[in-house]
Amino acid sequence: MQLRRTKIVATLGPATSSIEDLRGIIKAGTDVVRLNFSHGSAEDHKQRAANVLAAAEQEGRHVALLADLQGPKVRVARFVNNKVMLVAGQEFVLDPSMDGEAGTENAVGLDFPELGKDLKAGDILLLDDGRIILAVTRTEGNKVFTTVQVGGPLSNNKGINLKGGGLSAAALTDKDRKDLLTAAEIGVDYIAISFVRNAEDMLEARALLEAANSDASLVAKIERAEAIEPNTLDGIIQASEAVMVARGDLAVEIGDAALVGVQKDIIKRARQLNRVVITATQMMESMIESPMPTRAEVSDVANAVLDGTDAVMLSAETAVGDFPSQTVEAMARVCLGAEKHPSTLRSSHRIDMPVEAIDESVALGAIYIANHLQGVKAIISMTQTGATPLLMSRLSSGIPIFAYTPVSATQRRVCLYRGVLTQVFDSEQIENAAINQVAVDELKAAGVVTDGDLVLITKGDYTQAHGGTNTLKVIRVGNNIR
Ligand code: PGA
Ligand code: MN
Repeated sequence: MQLRRTKIVATLGPATSSIEDLRGIIKAGTDVVRLNFSHGSAEDHKQRAANVLAAAEQEGRHVALLADLQGPKVRVARFVNNKVMLVAGQEFVLDPSMDGEAGTENAVGLDFPELGKDLKAGDILLLDDGRIILAVTRTEGNKVFTTVQVGGPLSNNKGINLKGGGLSAAALTDKDRKDLLTAAEIGVDYIAISFVRNAEDMLEARALLEAANSDASLVAKIERAEAIEPNTLDGIIQASEAVMVARGDLAVEIGDAALVGVQKDIIKRARQLNRVVITATQMMESMIESPMPTRAEVSDVANAVLDGTDAVMLSAETAVGDFPSQTVEAMARVCLGAEKHPSTLRSSHRIDMPVEAIDESVALGAIYIANHLQGVKAIISMTQTGATPLLMSRLSSGIPIFAYTPVSATQRRVCLYRGVLTQVFDSEQIENAAINQVAVDELKAAGVVTDGDLVLITKGDYTQAHGGTNTLKVIRVGNNIR
């Protein structure tokens, strides 16, 4: 039985609000849902989250919740007629002092009054994900005068990026601070911070989380040019539990041609630093309107899998698309196919490096055995927080890692970890001498292993302890197990 290792994050929206729709995408393979706080009210998100938990329960699955905060996305205001046509060569003014509803083909309002301070003549602004290009000619106070370089239709509230990055806006806006409290109240498992500039932005988010008494994990969205400078990137990764290659904004800031290499670097570095990584945006874009992906999309998803990503993400495809569950199904199928490639089954991670922590050495040793000893079909990790399965899953392997835990937050958190599946298991309730037998019997009952297969088990001396894993056992299924 080939179990899918790469996880699927599906963004929710009008196409995936009802419990029935949610059951559809969960059945198709969704592991994590994203609540996009760029849209909708606190009430909408609370209702959606409740529906997700109900749908997951009905499907008998664990699904993690990820709240994605909007961040300081700079946007144009609105146009009198909702939309204008910009022509190459004409002048166009971004004017924060202008009435937010009064945009014309000559000028439009702006929701970030400080923009003018960050700009100088010659700067290039990319609007609507780079569809429109404006060259700054001069600024007058907060007013920004530009010449249209690439024209086209521009409609209400479209985003603005500065080519090369460098806008000063802090990662957490007032709205984000409020939304973070809502996310904490919902009890989400992950909170994503948008337009992170450096590690300090993540530390600030961490302080807010702690003040809100949330134990959510933090995801740093890498989507600013300055965030991929190597030292900055390492700092951000280390200050987060996970990062997202947020290709939509990132490609606009660094240029689409640089994106493929940067994606590989971010994924590799996150895994080296024992962090989780999501690859996002336009992965199956054509499936918003079509029941079949293009060859290029299939190739993009498969390559992210080969790059070692933990998860691939869907945005509009599942939020507003016509084929949400078909998209998840197609993505799952493509991931499974890519995971057959030999390069995903072996690992040279840390092979020449010393290891300090005992639990990490056990995790690395377990994967080495799993990848080399013939006949190993599964790894069972008895865990409270999911720390050991996370360490194991930083290494490439074809052997599934089962996080056995009684903690429901851990059952959901590991939904984002590549190669990690979860099993509700409370070893406190089982007589000591029988724990291993009961654990292996669960996998037998699920059809994952059969008599004669080998299974690895890791655990600590005290089952409740965090970071206490110090034991690795190799077991032959069917033998008398102790
Ligand atoms: P967004 O983030 O969808 O919130 O913009 C992802 C990206 O920029 O790719
Ligand atoms: Mn973005």
